[in-house]
Amino acid sequence: MLILMTGDATREDIQRVKDKIAALGFIAHEIVGASRVAVAITGNKTKVNPDLFSMMHGVEEAVPVTKPYKLVGRAAKPENSEIDVDGETIGGQELAIIAGPCSVENWDQLIATAEVVKDAGARFLRGGAFKPRTSPYAFQGIKEEGLALLREAKLKTGLKVITEAKDVETLPAVAEVADVIQIGARNMQNFSLLEAVGDLRKPVMLKRGISATIEELLMSAEYILARGNMNVILCERGIRTFEPYTRNTLDLNAIPVIKKLSHLPIIVDPSHGIGMWDGVSAMALAGIAAGADGLMIEVHPNPEAALSDGAQSLRPDRFRELMQRVRAVAAAVDRTVAVEIA
Ligand code: PEP
Ligand code: MN
Repeated sequence: MLILMTGDATREDIQRVKDKIAALGFIAHEIVGASRVAVAITGNKTKVNPDLFSMMHGVEEAVPVTKPYKLVGRAAKPENSEIDVDGETIGGQELAIIAGPCSVENWDQLIATAEVVKDAGARFLRGGAFKPRTSPYAFQGIKEEGLALLREAKLKTGLKVITEAKDVETLPAVAEVADVIQIGARNMQNFSLLEAVGDLRKPVMLKRGISATIEELLMSAEYILARGNMNVILCERGIRTFEPYTRNTLDLNAIPVIKKLSHLPIIVDPSHGIGMWDGVSAMALAGIAAGADGLMIEVHPNPEAALSDGAQSLRPDRFRELMQRVRAVAAAVDRTVAVEIA
């Protein structure tokens, strides 16, 4: 059930609705939109009678929710959510460009990458410190040391940092450094981890699971919002299909579908989506044309020597070239990109 408040409902009106929900033994979630507040009810096992709310002062309408998710849906918030990341916005008119190495390897590699991606117009530096790898023998990341290097790079460049939280145990250390906490594809349905980031108020970028449907992705996001953290950014990073030629199949259909179903921003990750550097730019541009709110691109100063995902990482000069093309496509779909620093 969603209680849609009128545009001129007062704080007291909203509080009375929330108190009534609490008195019924349910949970109230206030969702602040541009022109009105909606209060979603969760925790109910059976249908809630709309008449209990529709007569209350300041209530426009009490509407049942037919979708399996309530808080991430457009019905709860018709306008797009803009996520504030310590002064930068994801989901606004400016595209969010997130770039950096798959894994943080050492200071020289990280700072060299950070500086080139910043100059090219990225405002977010990515880099994995804790790496969830398919093989236990593959490089697992330099862990706490990587977090310390990310902190240094953030101080030096002013870029916001996004890095992955692999498990509940290491989440506090990650959350201390990250401006955006990444939940990887392999963890999209790690419900304990989703609840743990839901208890924080830091932005979270939730990647689509390797074989997850769009609805499953939205339900995982719902776990985070249901704990009170509304700062969620979705990420399409490709799904497993019958096609083995590319690492994954980047599902660009998901972009307009998610835009229709949800108010949350969505980022495209063409690096994992296609898995080969010479296809990354084409899919990045396609993602922007499809309506994504930004890109996450793996960049490495020397991809041949990368400790993970070198085959899909762009060299700095190729990233700069891509950004110029991104600006052209962005203009065609009424979006902007940060300017290049000469
Ligand atoms: C990554 O971003 O480096 C990563 C491991 O991605 P995914 O979880 O999408 O595989
Ligand atoms: Mn990677």
